[in-house]
Amino acid sequence: MTTHYINAFGTEAAEAPLKPLEIQRREVTPHDIQIEILYCGICHSDLHAVHNDWGGSVYPMVPGHEIVGRVTAVGEHVRNFKVGDLAGVGCIVDSCHECDYCKEGDEQFCENGNTIVFKKKKKKYGGMTYGGFSENIVVDENYALHIPDTLDLASAAPILCAGITVYSPFKHWKVGPGKNVGVIGIGGLGHIAIKIAKAMGAYVTVFTTSQSKADDAKRLRADAVVLSKDAAQMKNCPKQDMILDTVSAKHNINTYINLLKVDGSLVMVGLPAEPLEIGAGNVVHGRKSFTGSNIGGIRETQEVLNFCAAHHITADIELINVNQINEAFERLEKGDVKYRFVVDMASLKH
Ligand code: NAP
Ligand code: ZN
Repeated sequence: MTTHYINAFGTEAAEAPLKPLEIQRREVTPHDIQIEILYCGICHSDLHAVHNDWGGSVYPMVPGHEIVGRVTAVGEHVRNFKVGDLAGVGCIVDSCHECDYCKEGDEQFCENGNTIVFKKKKKKYGGMTYGGFSENIVVDENYALHIPDTLDLASAAPILCAGITVYSPFKHWKVGPGKNVGVIGIGGLGHIAIKIAKAMGAYVTVFTTSQSKADDAKRLRADAVVLSKDAAQMKNCPKQDMILDTVSAKHNINTYINLLKVDGSLVMVGLPAEPLEIGAGNVVHGRKSFTGSNIGGIRETQEVLNFCAAHHITADIELINVNQINEAFERLEKGDVKYRFVVDMASLKH
């Protein structure tokens, strides 16, 4: 397998800041496309992975899995992309194609183990995957997405992870008109969840720890907002059919299970490193479910991109340069971003 070196921005250890690195990308094979990366979002999962919050991180690591850019080369068998097209890459860059889940388009549940865009061993080619804080990426066209050209490119990038991660459970739990849907945490996932659930026709209540985000929630189109530290506001909150939990740190989920209707579901998408405790009585009374959801498949990722284009939905972003990534990580840790950092990857060249 021939490779070439490119510039990237990553880290060599959990405690070390990100810095310029050189990484190897494979040459374009017959089913691959090469994408010049224009913008890449910063997801809290990048931060968890860099800090080795979940264990198992391997270094050097180049994070970034909300990738958008322009196709600069295509392999001889590529059918769906041509040079000059806009294209995106999210979390998944390969899977087995053969298990029932892959055949259904649920590559996120691939029984033989999918390949994530960064920090994973490449089954087919060997070596590690490196993510979007880099000049370009080479990917099998079956794992690349078309970015509708009506969307602003930089603020569309977060749809590749934050967007699909909230859209997929909303579809699965049949969010729509007449449904009360709660969203916990107004971060990257949470703010886009509000917009998508509203576009699906639900009545959306948002729970936040931040007064300034509470003040902003109506602008984001939430129907109701609850300051979660305020016991009276929590007590008076109407019961929900489904609550999507996007919180990145340990928190008390029982208070939210108690806000569900009979048969309601608290759906975890946030990935705190520590286990969460559930009082058995809280799920027993009212036959409630505590469950979770993991990104979404490639077909559904294209669906959410098209849905967002149809409903004029993009993320509210703070556009930064590569040399601001370390500061952005520190601010993200504190929940201090409205609401997604996106890196202008052209700044890698300067
Ligand atoms: P984010 O932008 O940092 O948002 C997380 C929000 O959670 C914060 O803005 C804050 O909202 C709230 N929060 C943080 N710490 C809290 C605490 N101690 N108690 C209560 N609330 C707290 O992160 P993100 O990028 O949206 O990602 C959120 C989580 O989802 C991360 O754990 C990430 O790894 C995970 N994730 C999972 C998937 C998946 O497939 N399941 C995909 C992507 C990301 P307020 O300020 O409004 O309270
Ligand atoms: Zn993510």
